[in-house]
Amino acid sequence: MFESLSNNLQAVFQRLRGRGRLTEADVDEAMREIRRALLAADVNVKVVREFVDRVRARAVGQDVLKSLTPGQQVVKIVYEELTELMGGSQARIRMAPKPPTVVMLVGLQGAGKTTTAAKLALAFRQQNHRPLLVAADVYRPAAVDQLKVLGGQIDVPVFSLDGASAVEIAEAGLRDAERRGADLVIVDTAGRLHIDEALMAELESMKKVVEPQEILLVVDAMTGQDAVHVAETFHQRLEVTGVILTKLDGDARGGAALTVRAATGCPIKFVGMGEKIEPLEPFHPERMASRILGMGDVLSLIERAQERIDLDKAKEMEARMRSANFTLDDFQEMFRQVRNLGPLDQILKMLPGMNRVKGLENLDLNDRRFRRLEAIISSMTPQERQDPGILNASRRRRIANGSGTTVRDVNQLINQFEQVREMMKHLAGGGKRMGRRQAMN
Ligand code: GDP
Repeated sequence: MFESLSNNLQAVFQRLRGRGRLTEADVDEAMREIRRALLAADVNVKVVREFVDRVRARAVGQDVLKSLTPGQQVVKIVYEELTELMGGSQARIRMAPKPPTVVMLVGLQGAGKTTTAAKLALAFRQQNHRPLLVAADVYRPAAVDQLKVLGGQIDVPVFSLDGASAVEIAEAGLRDAERRGADLVIVDTAGRLHIDEALMAELESMKKVVEPQEILLVVDAMTGQDAVHVAETFHQRLEVTGVILTKLDGDARGGAALTVRAATGCPIKFVGMGEKIEPLEPFHPERMASRILGMGDVLSLIERAQERIDLDKAKEMEARMRSANFTLDDFQEMFRQVRNLGPLDQILKMLPGMNRVKGLENLDLNDRRFRRLEAIISSMTPQERQDPGILNASRRRRIANGSGTTVRDVNQLINQFEQVREMMKHLAGGGKRMGRRQAMN
């Protein structure tokens, strides 16, 4: 997610931090680089200009440049302004004073509405709500079946009505929710390939009839500025109450995430991170800013861990990670532990500094890769696992043969292990630096 933006900004900061003193000219140069990085990430030109102006004014004003750590102060300002740009703090779903709460999901075809409807239902079910999904996408017949299948998977009822119009379905769905005692109604509406009048008119009538607490616009983050344009148009007609950005797991450059709020005034409320039906994740501007700036997203990681990991084991793990002698045995255990947390590359990138480690994508923890990793490490002698430095070419060949893999696989694993170990050392020895970073937050 936002990889090149993140790398570019971190490179700017590294140069800034590297200097003891900063002049106004240094700040100007950094601002030019930040501007370039944001534009390359497809952030709206006007938004970029205003952003850079705000950061610059704060950076050269007051006592920033005279402070003991001017570079650090500038990073802090960028962090705060990025957070602000994305809405400041988490925007939650408005619940109806008297249930059921009605949420209309709108957006173009292919944006991920149906998938998102199921993820949203799952997120609320996990918080002990009783959601009902309403299949009102009558133009794409497969959408109704798709929603029924997804509903079945997550054990959430799905209301549909053959032959009725979208507005009729929504209305009947609401009555069905009351009958069932559902407290949250999620209406999956029709999309089109492009915005058109008929669609907008239909959504407007639906809005009048069901009086939703929330109209959430689902947009595909990969489409960058197009997503922002779509958001502006929907917002003008429907007064959208929030945006859900999907496909942030892909290689979206960041433009949509950083522009939508400033361009439309609509907060981003959730983000979609994959095709699998997992609970939809709330959007936290401060955590996203922290991730973009390579400061990690330890809070989200902790939340996930609390949900899915054995705490005692996690404590043990932490002690090992902090001890400077991190071995392949620990590496394997780390894999076993975090496997529960989701795709490893996503997890590791939540740790400070980790998003600079190359090739994390290859650490994908799907079953096949995981078995290969287990096989390779199991084919090593205990001594090799403790001290990978002794793994010469002939040992690597033996391990590849023993594990049914190739020498390339073995080399790759050892390289990744070395990278992670370097990071661990950095974390273990970098107490002071970490402290300062955290103090910033
Ligand atoms: P709809 O036409 O808006 O209802 O879109 P769908 O829910 O059918 O999604 C369109 C495609 O996008 C499907 O292939 C989904 O699996 C995929 N998709 C939806 N959300 C995400 C996401 O967050 N990440 C990724 N990678 N794919 C997604």
